[in-house]
Amino acid sequence: MKITRITVYQVNLPLEHPYWLSGGRLKFETLDATLVKLETDAGLIGWGEGTPWGHTYVPAHGPGIRAGIETMAPFILGLDPRCALDVERAIDLALPGHLYAKSPIDMACWDIAGQAAGLPIADLMGGGSRSPKPIAASVGAKTVEETRKVVARYRDRGYIAFSVKIGGDVARDIARIRDMEALRHPSDIVLYDVNRGWSRQQALSVMRATEDLAVMFEQPCESLDDIAAIAPKHAAPVSVDESLVTLQDATRIARDGVAEVFGIKLNRVGGLTKAARMRDVALAHGIDMFVMATGGTVLADAEALHLAATIPDDHLHAVWACQDMITVDIAGGRGPRATDGHLHLPEAPGLGVHPDEDSVGEPVAVYE
Ligand code: MG
Repeated sequence: MKITRITVYQVNLPLEHPYWLSGGRLKFETLDATLVKLETDAGLIGWGEGTPWGHTYVPAHGPGIRAGIETMAPFILGLDPRCALDVERAIDLALPGHLYAKSPIDMACWDIAGQAAGLPIADLMGGGSRSPKPIAASVGAKTVEETRKVVARYRDRGYIAFSVKIGGDVARDIARIRDMEALRHPSDIVLYDVNRGWSRQQALSVMRATEDLAVMFEQPCESLDDIAAIAPKHAAPVSVDESLVTLQDATRIARDGVAEVFGIKLNRVGGLTKAARMRDVALAHGIDMFVMATGGTVLADAEALHLAATIPDDHLHAVWACQDMITVDIAGGRGPRATDGHLHLPEAPGLGVHPDEDSVGEPVAVYE
């Protein structure tokens, strides 16, 4: 089987509400999605998606994905999409780095491989758990009162996992954590996501002031160096996501005990092929995981769900899905959808969902 055509689409995904990170430092209103359709000489079609969370969150942006695909396309055409490792080596040779530009290609290859095998991607990767995966609801509010309202709204819809965005003001962060912990149910999964918003000193101030609560923080500081430097000085469990990009990041975190949890974002790390190695490093070192779409449509959510399903349930905290935060649906309600705050693995072969082509507009590029 050979890849015969690569078609690229660009879709704007407006967020339902403007979204703030790091205590208001970064604002997001629309996500720039790139969708990729791979066609083969066997008639099978695979879809991939790359949707960074805006341009200012981390070094990844929508136009960069489309430019990267233009560079990689000649090296992909003619390859067998069922051989994800061959495709990975070809695109790593064609374009070192730029992992976020590669993930839609990898995703579309796994989609085709699953269809060819008659298996959902998670089963093709070795076996997918069918237990519903809790979705971490993003609580991006700024005040204690807004936080209460947003949590109540999600709880009414069945959510049990919450990613509460903090960072920026030490006193306000401590107040929000104490208030949220008072609202917390025993079975809730709660992550306090700082999105790099603290200096080392600010991180230690909040972590020490909330030590009695034993809460988990995500990406408290800018870099792995920062997170490693404060690790011996506090008792809180830490998840790393923005600073978990390469397999070398994963092995460093595992070997040096930098964090206890990985937040694996599929688009950031370059797709399922590369993310599966991080999963194995985590499992080999007693590190638990969140698996997340970086942003995007139900396609990106489905990709994250497939990887999550290959992780033993007792090592997976939650998934993160973007579908409830955007106002555009390119798949007419199909694919894995939030049901009582959980995602259910699709049984269809491959990714389990394809977009409606009339909802993704005209192609911005075709390579053949
Ligand atoms: Mg995060």
